[in-house]
Amino acid sequence: MQQKKSRGSLFVVSAPSGAGKTTLCRRLVSSQPGLAFSVSYTTRQPRQGEVRDVDYTFVGREDFLSMAGRGEFIEWAEVHGALYGTSGKRLEALMEAGNDVILDIDTQGAMQIKERYEGGTYVFILPPSFEVLKKRLEERMTDAKEEIEKRLRRAVSEIRSYQRYDYVIINDVLENALRELEAIILSRRVRAQMINPLWLEEGFFKQEEQ
Ligand code: ADP
Ligand code: 5GP
Repeated sequence: MQQKKSRGSLFVVSAPSGAGKTTLCRRLVSSQPGLAFSVSYTTRQPRQGEVRDVDYTFVGREDFLSMAGRGEFIEWAEVHGALYGTSGKRLEALMEAGNDVILDIDTQGAMQIKERYEGGTYVFILPPSFEVLKKRLEERMTDAKEEIEKRLRRAVSEIRSYQRYDYVIINDVLENALRELEAIILSRRVRAQMINPLWLEEGFFKQEEQ
């Protein structure tokens, strides 16, 4: 029996740190069947409550650079002084299994993927204001003061990249932002090009011939 869909779709989500992309992506992956999250590798230290291989695979800098040298990342970048990368093997396995996949990656990584691959959907998440972004980072209580300042400085330059994305979501009221992200994913899923022609052949056109 042929699959209805010819392949999974790739959703690349970027945002300045603290805008809420982890919250949005996690909520959506848990509520949408067939949507998976690609777990990245990073050299940064785990935050309190983060689970190995669920939030990130935490590795040393040397191991990370060896993996990068072997071409195991489809993109990687240095963000806030740590290295982050998307494993080609992990992404491939998720897509092979028929999933749509969300990558939560920074703007440098997103643009590397955009240059190399066709067909991805690019979503940028904005906080409602700079003040709210600052407050969210402070209230998350996962980063030291200097770390928060570093993230806020970087936020401004990251936001300048918004025009290179297909969609922009302002994460003010969480439920509204979730609905918007869900709408983007659903509309991509029902595009005509997502239907597997062999499935139509087997299920409809052959019946007509009989
Ligand atoms: P990011 O992954 O973009 O760094 P997080 O998902 O960790 O951001 O969110 C940063 C903080 O803001 C978290 O404490 C989260 O619970 C909170 N948060 C996320 N979205 C909203 C929202 N719409 N309203 C209020 N707080 C939010
Ligand atoms: P955090 O340390 O707050 O979880 O993430 C910091 C930044 O790294 C965020 O912008 C996040 O999207 C980005 N990031 C997470 N994983 C990857 C990845 O695999 N590749 C790239 N390029 N960025 C990533």
